[in-house]
Amino acid sequence: MSEGKKTKYITAGRDKKWTNGVVNPPVQRASTVVFNTVAEKHHAGVNRTNKTLFYGRRGTTTHFAFQDAMTEIEGGAGCALYPCGTAAISNAILSFVETGDHILMVDTCYEPTRDFCDQILKKLGVETTYYDPVIGEGIQELIKPNTKVLFLESPGSITMEVQDVPTLASIAHDHGIIVMLDNTWAAGVNFSPFDHGVDISIQAATKYIVGHSDVMLGTAVASEKYWDQLREQSYLMGQCVSPDDAYLGLRGIRTLDVRLRQHAENSLKVAEWLQSRPEVDHVRHPALESCPGHQFFKRDFTGGNGLFSFVLKTSYPRATTALLDGMQHFSMGYSWGGFESLILANEPKSFNSLRTVANPNFEGTLLRIHVGLEDVDDLIADLEQGFARYNALILEKETTA
Ligand SMILES: *Cc1c(COP(=O)(O)O)cnc(C)c1O
Repeated sequence: MSEGKKTKYITAGRDKKWTNGVVNPPVQRASTVVFNTVAEKHHAGVNRTNKTLFYGRRGTTTHFAFQDAMTEIEGGAGCALYPCGTAAISNAILSFVETGDHILMVDTCYEPTRDFCDQILKKLGVETTYYDPVIGEGIQELIKPNTKVLFLESPGSITMEVQDVPTLASIAHDHGIIVMLDNTWAAGVNFSPFDHGVDISIQAATKYIVGHSDVMLGTAVASEKYWDQLREQSYLMGQCVSPDDAYLGLRGIRTLDVRLRQHAENSLKVAEWLQSRPEVDHVRHPALESCPGHQFFKRDFTGGNGLFSFVLKTSYPRATTALLDGMQHFSMGYSWGGFESLILANEPKSFNSLRTVANPNFEGTLLRIHVGLEDVDDLIADLEQGFARYNALILEKETTA
């Protein structure tokens, strides 16, 4: 009998081999694994790539449990672990490119992903072409004979454009190109990567998998075709994580579904309230029609979360600062996916360096928020007071102009 999705969050990775008879797998710390006989050592060597204790860098039973859980919930043939999401992205790409290759990178990628392409890939002689997140079939025109990887991130970083993943993936596959997706927003579960043509699904597990803002962790789950190469090349680049962090990643999975549903419910309420505000030009929440690519969200995703953006009608940094400085429940901080609410502002000119082909050319300030698990009325009241501080300065500016 195949398990329901909620049941899977509870059972994933809990094979008795790893748990040793208790509910959670013990944290197994090891560099050296010791063998009593030549035969034991030989057996470990032969099976070292397949969840057999060999040497700490290959992982311990705690890692194996987390890796099993990730492939059970995302699909695919195996999961490589990295010390953070950025390492997962860079190592996944580096595992498959060589000098002279070309990759297609979505213009709305996470900023360090872009910096990795512009600095590290460039240095290695790998060329990057950025493409518009909503390019759809137009991707065809950007493919070159040496294109090796098509990289997606959906929804896009900060501006939240949802991509037509199946269309992009099928065109890429017609040309033998590997499709990689930064699947962090969907936490690997609200968008099923392998059902939509993705070959390698990458996550900053730092965000919703861990879910408590206290661990850096990255994952890359690969299909059967690419698993061996991803695992072995990442291994050669020395990628490994502590068993404590793997343990916390695994623990996060147990509550992932309930957390995501509550984040999604809260964020939709906040987003709908923001839509009614006179200061707001539009809201970029994938579940709302005003978000570019909303139709693909409706078609391909099974749920939402707490992260979205909204764009104000004007840009007046002093007023934005007044809004941000007095917040009670929304803190300013990078990252997201924890239980707490966060807020960050992007003035329109900041997109000049973040985008090369899909600059949204906003008139007003963009605010990205992560809606946490607080009482949603407290969060709305906090934003309402923020708008009062904002409006006071806008009014002052208008009366002195
Ligand atoms: C945070 C984030 C990353 C990077 O993850 P780290 O663990 O901080 O290195 C990558 N992609 C997306 C979409 C992110 O939000």
